Amino acid sequence: MDIVIIIIVIGVIFFVYIRSAYTETIAEEAAEDRFKSDVKVIKENEELLLNNDLFYRQLPYASQQRFMQRLALFVQSKNFIGREIEVEYYMKMMIGAAAIKFSFGVEDYQLSGFKQILVYPEEYYSKITRQYHKGEANAIGVLAFSWKHFKEGIDSPKDNLNLGVHEFAHAYFLQQTQMDGEDPFDSNKFKKLRTHIQDHAVLDTMKQKALFRDYAFRNEMEFFAIMGEHFFETPSDFKTETPRLYDMFGNVLKQDPTKLGM
Ligand SMILES: [Zn+2]
Repeated sequence: MDIVIIIIVIGVIFFVYIRSAYTETIAEEAAEDRFKSDVKVIKENEELLLNNDLFYRQLPYASQQRFMQRLALFVQSKNFIGREIEVEYYMKMMIGAAAIKFSFGVEDYQLSGFKQILVYPEEYYSKITRQYHKGEANAIGVLAFSWKHFKEGIDSPKDNLNLGVHEFAHAYFLQQTQMDGEDPFDSNKFKKLRTHIQDHAVLDTMKQKALFRDYAFRNEMEFFAIMGEHFFETPSDFKTETPRLYDMFGNVLKQDPTKLGM
């Protein structure tokens, strides 16, 4: 009788072992397939970034790898919703790339206060503001873009108009000041910059220089966003014209695009 029980126990152990080994092989194969298709998608998207994003193109190889990893995680973590437009994967990658570029110097790039990204084909009417918008970032955690204007921002990379950078600058500003979750920026450096750009003397000088478009002087948030557009589109001009402001902004973002030869 005992022998029979021992045989049954051995049989069961053997069966469980074979089964787990078998499932493991299947899981490994699936993982490998997934990896292969991921590599294909990553290669295609890398091509897209190389063709469309000077910042990405200028990064050293190791930083490009880090950029792609952050971008993939970022895109996965957001809910993209198309309004009368289908949001294809490459569009998500291009939109996400603007966020990753903006926050590339900091550790907390996740923008966890923003879960939804709405995409419209072109300018859209907002029932809240009763106006037409090209994009927005609001404190309820929603970002929105007109795809047409987002693309225009990328297609002319040196005119200091970049909707993607502009709206993500708003989003990171709100993440730091109003949203739950992580603070992307060092609070002292951010405070120092805010004090500086609220100073009337500084604003007057900036108006005289006419470096930033008039819209920058509407309020602090717009100033911050337009500063971001200049920082990534014409950093050398920005640095030459107003080195102190450039450095303060660079200290907040913890990066310096002029070092990439931009
Ligand atoms: Zn704005």
